[in-house]
Amino acid sequence: MNTTSIGRIEDLLKEKSSVEILTDFINQQVRDWPLANGNFKGLEKVKEKEFSFDGFKMKVQFNPERIRSSAAKVDQKSIENRDCFLCLDKLPPEQGGIAQGKDFVILVNPFPIIPQHFTILKVDHVDQSFMDNLEGMLSLAKDMEGYTFFYNGPKCGASAPDHMHFQAGSNGFMPVEAEYFSMKKQAELLLKSNETEVRAFHHYLRKMISVESTKAKELVKIVNDFYESFSILQPEEKEPMLNVICFYTGEKYIMHLFPRKLHRPTQYFAEGEDQILISPASVDFGGVFITPRQEDFEKITADDIEDIFNQVCVGDKVFSKLCEKIKVESE
Ligand SMILES: [Zn+2]
Repeated sequence: MNTTSIGRIEDLLKEKSSVEILTDFINQQVRDWPLANGNFKGLEKVKEKEFSFDGFKMKVQFNPERIRSSAAKVDQKSIENRDCFLCLDKLPPEQGGIAQGKDFVILVNPFPIIPQHFTILKVDHVDQSFMDNLEGMLSLAKDMEGYTFFYNGPKCGASAPDHMHFQAGSNGFMPVEAEYFSMKKQAELLLKSNETEVRAFHHYLRKMISVESTKAKELVKIVNDFYESFSILQPEEKEPMLNVICFYTGEKYIMHLFPRKLHRPTQYFAEGEDQILISPASVDFGGVFITPRQEDFEKITADDIEDIFNQVCVGDKVFSKLCEKIKVESE
């Protein structure tokens, strides 16, 4: 692939908005690349259903193309025995890219969940690592205003934990984006300054800490403190288990952090009737459960969703510790 064929987002933004640039890009890829064409057309036909909870909702999407992601083998041995499919020289010839800065390339994701779905690669083959790329994520989210970014930790849904990448999709797809604003009054306020507010959501099925800030630097400091205290609680992990959702709107960064304790729930490993093939990642935490098998889509209930979140999220005690730490750091 040739990343210069499309250009650099910094240059393109002088002429057009981020949404215009990325809509043109996706249209061009869908037109010229049969795989993307088939899968984006298929997305228009995916089945969805919805469950209502107290003040919020969960969507369920049946998407058979995502089986490769949900069932991806991400243990070290499997990773070592395959070619990295995200290295630039391994990408299919039809794949175009838009460069951002010197480190990242924006690509169209040919296995979409979201109407406009992108994968953003680090140019170098380096491990999935949140803190090393947090400033990069904020800069990307700003350049791609109108899109929501997400990060899946190496044991939290990333299907290529050996090659640093984010994903991004059109705003408005994940319920969390709007629910954060409608529910934040009921959440626990952990910190408030002129530029920044941090809140904890204890009763949202999943545990969520949300940082809202006009200053990238301040957000980075808070997230860094959170990350350090979480690392101490999970000393056996290379990085604490985390999913992250982030977007830039109205001159503010909004970042949702979902601290976890488990990669895949018991339902994933169960057999026969009891099996539900779900491997939760950021999109699921954002409020859209992805089921690659039709039988799971049909049988999954609101109770299953609650149970799966209970298994994979940190418990009340750990969550309260993380919240306390943010309060203390701010004093
Ligand atoms: Zn790679």
